Amino acid sequence: MKKRYSLIVIVVLFFTLTLSACNCKYIENSSGENTQKHFYEINAYLNTDYKLLECEMRVDYVNKFEKSKNYIEFDLYPNAFSQNSIYKPVSFQNINLIYPEGISYGSVKINSVKNKGNNLFYEIVDFDSVLRIYPQEKIKSGEVFSAEIDFTVQFPCAFHRLGFYDNCFNAGNFYPSVCQENDDGFVHGNYHITGDPFDTDYADYEVYLNVPQNYLVAHSATAEWETINGKRKTIFIKGQDIKDFAFSASQNYKKISGETSSGTVINYYYLNEKFSETVLRTALKGYEFFDEAFCNTEKKKFDIAQTYLFSGGMEYSEMIMLSTEIFTDEYVAERIALHETAHQWWYYLIGSNQKFSPWIDEGLSEFSVYYYFLNNDKNKSEIFIDEIKSNIAYFENYSEKESDLKPLEDIYYFTGENAELAYSVSVYSASFFFFYNLYSDNKENFIGNLNNLCEDFKYKSLSQNEFISYIEQLKNFKKYYQKLSA
Ligand SMILES: [Zn+2]
Repeated sequence: MKKRYSLIVIVVLFFTLTLSACNCKYIENSSGENTQKHFYEINAYLNTDYKLLECEMRVDYVNKFEKSKNYIEFDLYPNAFSQNSIYKPVSFQNINLIYPEGISYGSVKINSVKNKGNNLFYEIVDFDSVLRIYPQEKIKSGEVFSAEIDFTVQFPCAFHRLGFYDNCFNAGNFYPSVCQENDDGFVHGNYHITGDPFDTDYADYEVYLNVPQNYLVAHSATAEWETINGKRKTIFIKGQDIKDFAFSASQNYKKISGETSSGTVINYYYLNEKFSETVLRTALKGYEFFDEAFCNTEKKKFDIAQTYLFSGGMEYSEMIMLSTEIFTDEYVAERIALHETAHQWWYYLIGSNQKFSPWIDEGLSEFSVYYYFLNNDKNKSEIFIDEIKSNIAYFENYSEKESDLKPLEDIYYFTGENAELAYSVSVYSASFFFFYNLYSDNKENFIGNLNNLCEDFKYKSLSQNEFISYIEQLKNFKKYYQKLSA
Protein backbone atom coordinates (compact mmCIF):
# COMPACT_ATOMS: atom_id res chain seq x y z
CA MET A 1 0.00 0.00 0.00
CA LYS A 2 2.62 2.44 1.09
CA LYS A 3 4.80 1.74 -1.93
CA ARG A 4 1.92 2.23 -4.31
CA TYR A 5 0.95 5.47 -2.57
CA SER A 6 4.50 6.78 -2.97
CA LEU A 7 4.47 5.92 -6.66
CA ILE A 8 1.23 7.89 -7.19
CA VAL A 9 2.71 10.87 -5.31
CA ILE A 10 5.85 10.76 -7.46
CA VAL A 11 3.84 10.48 -10.68
CA VAL A 12 1.49 13.34 -9.67
CA LEU A 13 4.45 15.46 -8.54
CA PHE A 14 6.31 14.77 -11.79
CA PHE A 15 3.39 15.91 -13.96
CA THR A 16 2.64 18.91 -11.73
CA LEU A 17 6.25 20.07 -11.93
CA THR A 18 6.44 19.42 -15.68
CA LEU A 19 3.26 21.38 -16.33
CA SER A 20 4.08 24.28 -14.05
CA ALA A 21 7.61 24.52 -15.46
CA CYS A 22 6.53 25.30 -19.00
CA ASN A 23 2.78 26.00 -18.83
CA CYS A 24 2.46 24.45 -22.20
CA LYS A 25 1.86 21.22 -24.03
CA TYR A 26 2.51 19.71 -27.38
CA ILE A 27 -0.40 19.41 -29.80
CA GLU A 28 -0.90 15.82 -30.77
CA ASN A 29 -3.16 14.40 -33.42
CA SER A 30 -5.06 11.13 -32.97
CA SER A 31 -1.90 9.14 -33.86
CA GLY A 32 0.04 10.95 -31.13
CA GLU A 33 2.28 12.89 -33.55
CA ASN A 34 3.32 16.49 -32.92
CA THR A 35 1.45 18.25 -35.72
CA GLN A 36 3.28 21.60 -35.35
CA LYS A 37 0.26 23.68 -36.35
CA HIS A 38 -1.59 26.43 -34.57
CA PHE A 39 -5.09 25.49 -33.46
CA TYR A 40 -8.04 27.90 -33.16
CA GLU A 41 -11.27 27.14 -31.33
CA ILE A 42 -13.80 29.94 -31.83
CA ASN A 43 -17.23 30.38 -30.25
CA ALA A 44 -18.91 33.19 -32.20
CA TYR A 45 -22.36 34.72 -31.61
CA LEU A 46 -23.71 36.87 -34.43
CA ASN A 47 -25.73 39.70 -32.89
CA THR A 48 -27.69 40.98 -35.88
CA ASP A 49 -29.46 43.74 -33.89
CA TYR A 50 -26.26 45.49 -32.86
CA LYS A 51 -24.14 44.27 -35.80
CA LEU A 52 -21.67 42.54 -33.51
CA LEU A 53 -19.81 39.26 -33.45
CA GLU A 54 -19.24 38.27 -29.84
CA CYS A 55 -16.44 35.73 -29.61
CA GLU A 56 -14.50 33.55 -27.23
CA MET A 57 -11.44 32.00 -28.79
CA ARG A 58 -8.72 29.63 -27.66
CA VAL A 59 -5.51 29.55 -29.64
CA ASP A 60 -2.87 26.88 -29.21
CA TYR A 61 0.18 28.69 -30.53
CA VAL A 62 3.17 26.55 -31.60
CA ASN A 63 6.64 28.08 -31.47
CA LYS A 64 8.04 26.69 -34.71
CA PHE A 65 11.27 28.69 -34.46
CA GLU A 66 14.65 28.19 -32.77
CA LYS A 67 14.41 31.27 -30.56
CA SER A 68 12.20 31.37 -27.45
CA LYS A 69 9.31 33.84 -27.58
CA ASN A 70 8.76 36.53 -24.98
CA TYR A 71 5.43 37.39 -26.54
CA ILE A 72 3.02 36.34 -29.30
CA GLU A 73 1.50 38.80 -31.78
CA PHE A 74 -1.85 38.66 -33.55
CA ASP A 75 -3.14 40.78 -36.44
CA LEU A 76 -6.32 42.70 -35.57
CA TYR A 77 -7.63 43.28 -39.08
CA PRO A 78 -11.07 44.68 -38.07
CA ASN A 79 -9.32 47.73 -36.59
CA ALA A 80 -8.44 48.80 -40.14
CA PHE A 81 -12.10 49.88 -40.28
CA SER A 82 -11.87 52.05 -37.15
CA GLN A 83 -12.03 55.84 -37.17
CA ASN A 84 -8.35 56.37 -36.33
CA SER A 85 -6.98 53.60 -38.48
CA ILE A 86 -3.58 54.19 -40.08
CA TYR A 87 -3.77 51.09 -42.27
CA LYS A 88 -6.96 51.96 -44.16
CA PRO A 89 -8.97 49.27 -45.99
CA VAL A 90 -9.90 51.56 -48.88
CA SER A 91 -8.39 54.51 -50.73
CA PHE A 92 -9.78 58.01 -50.33
CA GLN A 93 -10.98 57.88 -53.97
CA ASN A 94 -13.06 54.73 -53.35
CA ILE A 95 -14.68 55.69 -50.06
CA ASN A 96 -18.05 56.26 -51.71
CA LEU A 97 -17.95 52.80 -53.27
CA ILE A 98 -17.63 50.90 -50.01
CA TYR A 99 -19.90 52.84 -47.64
CA PRO A 100 -23.46 52.71 -49.02
CA GLU A 101 -24.88 54.87 -46.23
CA GLY A 102 -21.94 57.16 -45.50
CA ILE A 103 -18.74 56.41 -43.58
CA SER A 104 -19.23 53.67 -41.02
CA TYR A 105 -16.68 52.28 -38.58
CA GLY A 106 -15.81 48.77 -37.51
CA SER A 107 -13.38 47.42 -34.92
CA VAL A 108 -12.35 44.57 -32.69
CA LYS A 109 -12.35 45.12 -28.94
CA ILE A 110 -10.27 42.76 -26.80
CA ASN A 111 -12.21 42.10 -23.58
CA SER A 112 -9.79 39.72 -21.86
CA VAL A 113 -6.79 37.49 -22.48
CA LYS A 114 -6.19 34.48 -20.26
CA ASN A 115 -4.14 31.33 -19.94
CA LYS A 116 -6.04 28.51 -18.25
CA GLY A 117 -8.32 31.05 -16.63
CA ASN A 118 -5.53 33.34 -15.35
CA ASN A 119 -5.32 36.87 -16.73
CA LEU A 120 -2.36 37.57 -18.99
CA PHE A 121 -0.70 40.92 -19.62
CA TYR A 122 -1.34 42.18 -23.13
CA GLU A 123 -1.10 45.38 -25.12
CA ILE A 124 -2.44 46.69 -28.43
CA VAL A 125 0.44 47.98 -30.57
CA ASP A 126 1.25 49.29 -34.07
CA PHE A 127 -1.61 51.82 -34.21
CA ASP A 128 -4.20 49.34 -32.86
CA SER A 129 -3.43 46.80 -35.58
CA VAL A 130 -1.72 44.15 -33.43
CA LEU A 131 -2.46 42.36 -30.15
CA ARG A 132 0.68 41.42 -28.22
CA ILE A 133 0.27 38.80 -25.51
CA TYR A 134 2.92 38.10 -22.86
CA PRO A 135 2.96 34.52 -21.53
CA GLN A 136 3.99 33.96 -17.89
CA GLU A 137 7.22 32.41 -19.16
CA LYS A 138 9.09 32.34 -22.44
CA ILE A 139 7.71 29.91 -24.99
CA LYS A 140 10.61 27.67 -25.98
CA SER A 141 11.18 26.24 -29.44
CA GLY A 142 8.65 23.50 -30.18
CA GLU A 143 6.43 24.37 -27.23
CA VAL A 144 2.75 25.18 -27.42
CA PHE A 145 1.09 27.97 -25.49
CA SER A 146 -2.67 28.38 -25.09
CA ALA A 147 -4.33 31.78 -24.90
CA GLU A 148 -8.03 32.40 -24.34
CA ILE A 149 -9.08 35.65 -26.00
CA ASP A 150 -12.51 37.17 -25.44
CA PHE A 151 -13.29 39.76 -28.12
CA THR A 152 -16.13 41.66 -29.81
CA VAL A 153 -16.17 42.62 -33.47
CA GLN A 154 -18.22 45.61 -34.61
CA PHE A 155 -19.24 45.29 -38.26
CA PRO A 156 -19.10 48.49 -40.30
CA CYS A 157 -21.92 49.15 -42.76
CA ALA A 158 -19.64 48.52 -45.72
CA PHE A 159 -19.27 46.60 -48.98
CA HIS A 160 -16.08 44.93 -47.82
CA ARG A 161 -14.56 41.70 -46.50
CA LEU A 162 -15.78 42.79 -43.08
CA GLY A 163 -19.12 44.54 -43.21
CA PHE A 164 -22.90 44.33 -43.28
CA TYR A 165 -25.62 45.66 -45.53
CA ASP A 166 -29.29 44.73 -45.83
CA ASN A 167 -29.09 41.83 -43.30
CA CYS A 168 -26.07 40.31 -45.01
CA PHE A 169 -22.86 40.00 -42.96
CA ASN A 170 -19.34 39.43 -44.27
CA ALA A 171 -16.93 38.12 -41.65
CA GLY A 172 -13.55 37.95 -43.36
CA ASN A 173 -10.38 38.15 -41.20
CA PHE A 174 -12.49 38.94 -38.14
CA TYR A 175 -10.54 37.19 -35.38
CA PRO A 176 -7.07 37.87 -33.95
CA SER A 177 -4.84 35.66 -36.11
CA VAL A 178 -1.22 34.82 -35.30
CA CYS A 179 1.03 37.17 -37.28
CA GLN A 180 3.28 35.65 -39.89
CA GLU A 181 6.71 34.79 -38.47
CA ASN A 182 10.27 34.52 -39.65
CA ASP A 183 13.57 33.97 -37.81
CA ASP A 184 13.57 37.64 -36.69
CA GLY A 185 10.10 37.49 -35.15
CA PHE A 186 6.55 38.45 -36.06
CA VAL A 187 5.63 40.32 -39.26
CA HIS A 188 2.55 42.53 -38.89
CA GLY A 189 -0.24 42.11 -41.44
CA ASN A 190 -0.97 45.82 -41.92
CA TYR A 191 -4.14 46.29 -43.98
CA HIS A 192 -3.72 48.09 -47.29
CA ILE A 193 -5.90 49.80 -49.89
CA THR A 194 -4.86 47.33 -52.60
CA GLY A 195 -4.31 43.60 -52.65
CA ASP A 196 -4.94 41.00 -49.97
CA PRO A 197 -2.80 41.87 -46.93
CA PHE A 198 -3.02 38.36 -45.49
CA ASP A 199 -0.35 35.75 -45.02
CA THR A 200 -1.39 33.26 -42.39
CA ASP A 201 -0.10 29.80 -41.57
CA TYR A 202 -2.07 26.66 -42.27
CA ALA A 203 -3.83 25.74 -39.04
CA ASP A 204 -6.66 23.63 -37.67
CA TYR A 205 -9.97 25.20 -36.64
CA GLU A 206 -13.06 24.27 -34.69
CA VAL A 207 -15.79 26.89 -34.83
CA TYR A 208 -19.14 27.04 -33.05
CA LEU A 209 -21.10 29.65 -34.96
CA ASN A 210 -24.38 30.86 -33.42
CA VAL A 211 -26.68 32.78 -35.79
CA PRO A 212 -30.42 33.53 -36.03
CA GLN A 213 -32.29 30.40 -37.07
CA ASN A 214 -33.49 31.93 -40.37
CA TYR A 215 -29.94 32.80 -41.54
CA LEU A 216 -28.01 30.73 -44.10
CA VAL A 217 -24.23 30.74 -43.77
CA ALA A 218 -21.54 30.25 -46.41
CA HIS A 219 -18.27 29.46 -44.63
CA SER A 220 -14.75 28.06 -44.75
CA ALA A 221 -14.22 24.40 -43.84
CA THR A 222 -16.95 21.82 -43.26
CA ALA A 223 -20.06 21.88 -41.05
CA GLU A 224 -20.20 18.75 -38.90
CA TRP A 225 -23.55 19.37 -37.22
CA GLU A 226 -26.21 22.00 -36.58
CA THR A 227 -28.59 22.37 -33.63
CA ILE A 228 -31.60 24.67 -33.38
CA ASN A 229 -32.46 26.31 -30.08
CA GLY A 230 -35.54 28.54 -30.31
CA LYS A 231 -34.85 31.42 -32.66
CA ARG A 232 -31.12 30.64 -32.90
CA LYS A 233 -29.00 27.85 -34.32
CA THR A 234 -25.44 26.70 -33.72
CA ILE A 235 -23.32 25.30 -36.52
CA PHE A 236 -20.20 23.33 -35.62
CA ILE A 237 -17.55 23.71 -38.32
CA LYS A 238 -14.25 21.89 -38.48
CA GLY A 239 -11.31 22.63 -40.74
CA GLN A 240 -7.89 21.01 -41.07
CA ASP A 241 -4.99 22.69 -42.84
CA ILE A 242 -6.90 25.85 -43.65
CA LYS A 243 -5.29 29.27 -44.00
CA ASP A 244 -8.21 31.25 -42.58
CA PHE A 245 -11.80 31.00 -41.41
CA ALA A 246 -14.41 33.34 -42.92
CA PHE A 247 -18.16 33.39 -43.45
CA SER A 248 -21.00 35.32 -45.06
CA ALA A 249 -24.44 35.06 -43.43
CA SER A 250 -27.81 36.39 -44.46
CA GLN A 251 -31.51 35.88 -43.87
CA ASN A 252 -31.98 36.67 -47.57
CA TYR A 253 -29.80 33.84 -48.88
CA LYS A 254 -31.09 31.12 -51.16
CA LYS A 255 -28.89 28.12 -51.84
CA ILE A 256 -28.31 25.80 -54.80
CA SER A 257 -25.80 22.95 -54.78
CA GLY A 258 -24.05 20.44 -57.01
CA GLU A 259 -21.27 17.88 -56.75
CA THR A 260 -18.09 17.48 -58.80
CA SER A 261 -17.10 14.11 -60.27
CA SER A 262 -14.51 13.71 -57.51
CA GLY A 263 -17.05 14.35 -54.74
CA THR A 264 -16.66 18.03 -53.77
CA VAL A 265 -20.06 19.55 -52.96
CA ILE A 266 -20.30 23.13 -54.22
CA ASN A 267 -22.91 25.39 -52.61
CA TYR A 268 -23.86 28.73 -54.09
CA TYR A 269 -25.55 31.18 -51.69
CA TYR A 270 -27.16 34.03 -53.58
CA LEU A 271 -29.13 37.19 -52.91
CA ASN A 272 -30.11 37.81 -56.51
CA GLU A 273 -30.88 34.85 -58.74
CA LYS A 274 -29.60 36.43 -61.96
CA PHE A 275 -27.00 34.04 -63.49
CA SER A 276 -27.22 31.79 -60.41
CA GLU A 277 -27.32 28.61 -62.55
CA THR A 278 -24.40 29.97 -64.61
CA VAL A 279 -22.29 30.60 -61.50
CA LEU A 280 -22.94 27.14 -60.03
CA ARG A 281 -22.38 25.38 -63.37
CA THR A 282 -19.18 27.35 -64.03
CA ALA A 283 -17.83 26.70 -60.53
CA LEU A 284 -18.57 22.96 -60.85
CA LYS A 285 -16.96 22.69 -64.29
CA GLY A 286 -14.06 24.93 -63.27
CA TYR A 287 -13.40 23.02 -60.04
CA GLU A 288 -13.43 19.69 -61.91
CA PHE A 289 -11.16 21.09 -64.60
CA PHE A 290 -8.59 22.50 -62.13
CA ASP A 291 -8.72 19.27 -60.07
CA GLU A 292 -7.77 17.42 -63.24
CA ALA A 293 -5.34 19.98 -64.71
CA PHE A 294 -3.37 20.91 -61.54
CA CYS A 295 -4.11 18.45 -58.72
CA ASN A 296 -7.05 17.14 -56.75
CA THR A 297 -7.90 19.18 -53.65
CA GLU A 298 -9.65 16.15 -52.08
CA LYS A 299 -11.95 18.57 -50.27
CA LYS A 300 -15.51 17.74 -49.24
CA LYS A 301 -17.07 21.10 -49.98
CA PHE A 302 -16.62 24.57 -51.40
CA ASP A 303 -18.96 27.50 -50.64
CA ILE A 304 -19.61 30.52 -52.87
CA ALA A 305 -21.29 33.57 -51.31
CA GLN A 306 -22.79 36.33 -53.41
CA THR A 307 -22.48 39.39 -51.23
CA TYR A 308 -21.95 43.12 -50.94
CA LEU A 309 -18.31 43.65 -51.86
CA PHE A 310 -16.75 46.60 -53.65
CA SER A 311 -14.11 44.49 -55.42
CA GLY A 312 -15.14 41.63 -57.76
CA GLY A 313 -14.46 38.80 -55.33
CA MET A 314 -12.41 37.49 -52.44
CA GLU A 315 -10.88 34.13 -51.75
CA TYR A 316 -10.75 32.24 -48.47
CA SER A 317 -10.09 28.61 -47.63
CA GLU A 318 -12.90 26.47 -49.07
CA MET A 319 -15.00 29.59 -49.57
CA ILE A 320 -15.16 32.60 -51.88
CA MET A 321 -17.17 35.82 -51.90
CA LEU A 322 -18.51 37.25 -55.17
CA SER A 323 -19.66 40.84 -55.40
CA THR A 324 -23.29 41.53 -56.33
CA GLU A 325 -21.81 44.19 -58.66
CA ILE A 326 -20.43 41.65 -61.16
CA PHE A 327 -23.81 40.21 -62.14
CA THR A 328 -24.53 42.72 -64.89
CA ASP A 329 -22.89 40.61 -67.59
CA GLU A 330 -22.77 36.81 -67.92
CA TYR A 331 -19.15 36.67 -69.14
CA VAL A 332 -17.96 38.85 -66.23
CA ALA A 333 -19.85 36.73 -63.67
CA GLU A 334 -18.33 33.60 -65.21
CA ARG A 335 -14.73 34.83 -65.44
CA ILE A 336 -14.73 36.23 -61.89
CA ALA A 337 -16.30 33.03 -60.50
CA LEU A 338 -13.51 31.10 -62.28
CA HIS A 339 -10.76 33.44 -61.03
CA GLU A 340 -11.89 33.14 -57.41
CA THR A 341 -12.37 29.37 -57.74
CA ALA A 342 -8.82 29.06 -59.12
CA HIS A 343 -7.56 30.68 -55.89
CA GLN A 344 -8.50 27.40 -54.18
CA TRP A 345 -5.31 26.14 -55.88
CA TRP A 346 -3.30 29.38 -56.06
CA TYR A 347 -3.46 30.74 -52.51
CA TYR A 348 -5.21 28.04 -50.52
CA LEU A 349 -3.77 24.74 -51.77
CA ILE A 350 -0.40 26.29 -52.68
CA GLY A 351 0.18 28.95 -50.03
CA SER A 352 2.13 31.68 -51.79
CA ASN A 353 2.62 35.00 -50.03
CA GLN A 354 -0.22 37.34 -51.04
CA LYS A 355 1.39 40.42 -49.52
CA PHE A 356 4.94 40.19 -50.82
CA SER A 357 4.55 38.24 -54.07
CA PRO A 358 0.91 38.69 -55.12
CA TRP A 359 1.88 38.20 -58.80
CA ILE A 360 2.10 34.44 -58.17
CA ASP A 361 -1.44 33.69 -56.98
CA GLU A 362 -3.15 36.48 -58.95
CA GLY A 363 -1.23 35.79 -62.19
CA LEU A 364 -1.79 32.04 -61.92
CA SER A 365 -5.50 32.51 -61.14
CA GLU A 366 -5.86 34.69 -64.25
CA PHE A 367 -3.92 32.11 -66.27
CA SER A 368 -6.25 29.40 -64.93
CA VAL A 369 -9.30 31.32 -66.24
CA TYR A 370 -7.67 31.52 -69.67
CA TYR A 371 -6.65 27.84 -69.59
CA TYR A 372 -10.19 26.80 -68.64
CA PHE A 373 -11.71 28.87 -71.48
CA LEU A 374 -9.10 27.55 -73.94
CA ASN A 375 -10.16 23.99 -73.19
CA ASN A 376 -13.89 24.56 -72.74
CA ASP A 377 -14.97 27.63 -74.71
CA LYS A 378 -12.28 28.83 -77.13
CA ASN A 379 -14.20 31.93 -78.15
CA LYS A 380 -14.15 33.15 -74.53
CA SER A 381 -10.38 32.55 -74.30
CA GLU A 382 -10.00 35.12 -77.09
CA ILE A 383 -12.39 37.54 -75.37
CA PHE A 384 -10.31 37.07 -72.22
CA ILE A 385 -7.01 37.86 -74.00
CA ASP A 386 -8.59 40.97 -75.57
CA GLU A 387 -9.83 42.07 -72.16
CA ILE A 388 -6.35 41.79 -70.59
CA LYS A 389 -4.73 43.54 -73.58
CA SER A 390 -7.16 46.42 -73.34
CA ASN A 391 -6.52 46.73 -69.56
CA ILE A 392 -2.81 47.14 -70.25
CA ALA A 393 -3.42 49.54 -73.16
CA TYR A 394 -5.73 51.65 -71.01
CA PHE A 395 -3.14 51.82 -68.24
CA GLU A 396 -0.26 52.66 -70.59
CA ASN A 397 -2.31 55.38 -72.19
CA TYR A 398 -3.27 56.67 -68.77
CA SER A 399 0.21 56.57 -67.23
CA GLU A 400 2.08 57.20 -70.52
CA LYS A 401 4.88 55.00 -69.19
CA GLU A 402 5.02 51.23 -69.54
CA SER A 403 7.66 51.17 -66.81
CA ASP A 404 4.94 52.01 -64.30
CA LEU A 405 3.86 48.40 -64.47
CA LYS A 406 5.45 46.75 -61.43
CA PRO A 407 4.21 43.16 -61.23
CA LEU A 408 6.91 41.95 -58.84
CA GLU A 409 6.30 44.60 -56.18
CA ASP A 410 4.57 43.85 -52.90
CA ILE A 411 1.07 45.24 -52.26
CA TYR A 412 2.41 48.16 -50.15
CA TYR A 413 4.28 49.58 -53.15
CA PHE A 414 0.96 50.67 -54.66
CA THR A 415 -0.23 53.90 -53.09
CA GLY A 416 -1.81 57.18 -54.13
CA GLU A 417 -4.49 58.09 -56.59
CA ASN A 418 -3.85 55.32 -59.15
CA ALA A 419 -3.01 52.56 -56.70
CA GLU A 420 -5.89 50.20 -57.60
CA LEU A 421 -5.40 50.58 -61.35
CA ALA A 422 -1.60 50.20 -61.21
CA TYR A 423 -1.94 47.21 -58.86
CA SER A 424 -4.52 45.34 -60.90
CA VAL A 425 -2.83 45.88 -64.27
CA SER A 426 0.61 44.98 -62.85
CA VAL A 427 -0.25 42.07 -60.60
CA TYR A 428 -3.13 40.55 -62.60
CA SER A 429 -2.69 41.53 -66.24
CA ALA A 430 1.10 41.79 -66.70
CA SER A 431 1.72 38.61 -64.70
CA PHE A 432 -1.00 36.86 -66.66
CA PHE A 433 0.96 37.55 -69.84
CA PHE A 434 4.14 36.23 -68.20
CA PHE A 435 2.39 32.89 -67.53
CA TYR A 436 0.60 32.95 -70.88
CA ASN A 437 3.89 33.43 -72.80
CA LEU A 438 5.65 30.76 -70.77
CA TYR A 439 2.76 28.36 -71.42
CA SER A 440 2.66 29.19 -75.15
CA ASP A 441 6.38 28.36 -75.51
CA ASN A 442 6.29 25.23 -73.34
CA LYS A 443 2.71 23.86 -73.31
CA GLU A 444 2.85 20.37 -71.64
CA ASN A 445 6.05 21.15 -69.73
CA PHE A 446 4.52 24.25 -68.19
CA ILE A 447 1.41 22.38 -67.00
CA GLY A 448 3.59 19.44 -65.94
CA ASN A 449 5.70 21.74 -63.76
CA LEU A 450 2.54 23.15 -62.15
CA ASN A 451 1.45 19.55 -61.46
CA ASN A 452 4.75 18.84 -59.70
CA LEU A 453 4.48 22.08 -57.73
CA CYS A 454 0.94 21.18 -56.64
CA GLU A 455 1.95 17.74 -55.44
CA ASP A 456 5.07 18.98 -53.62
CA PHE A 457 3.46 22.01 -51.94
CA LYS A 458 -0.05 20.77 -51.25
CA TYR A 459 -1.25 22.75 -48.20
CA LYS A 460 2.21 24.20 -47.60
CA SER A 461 3.58 27.74 -47.75
CA LEU A 462 5.61 28.51 -50.84
CA SER A 463 8.27 31.23 -51.17
CA GLN A 464 8.89 33.17 -54.37
CA ASN A 465 12.30 31.50 -54.83
CA GLU A 466 10.79 28.06 -54.36
CA PHE A 467 8.16 28.91 -56.95
CA ILE A 468 10.72 30.15 -59.46
CA SER A 469 12.72 26.94 -59.10
CA TYR A 470 9.72 25.13 -60.66
CA ILE A 471 9.58 27.28 -63.79
CA GLU A 472 13.10 28.63 -64.40
CA GLN A 473 14.11 25.63 -66.56
CA LEU A 474 11.35 26.40 -69.06
CA LYS A 475 12.19 27.76 -72.51
CA ASN A 476 12.39 31.59 -72.61
CA PHE A 477 11.89 31.91 -68.85
CA LYS A 478 14.70 34.48 -68.57
CA LYS A 479 13.32 36.61 -71.39
CA TYR A 480 9.85 36.83 -69.91
CA TYR A 481 11.00 37.16 -66.31
CA GLN A 482 13.28 40.07 -67.24
CA LYS A 483 10.29 41.82 -68.75
CA LEU A 484 8.33 41.19 -65.54
CA SER A 485 11.07 42.66 -63.36
CA ALA A 486 11.92 45.62 -65.65
ZN1 LIG B 1 -7.55 37.11 -57.16
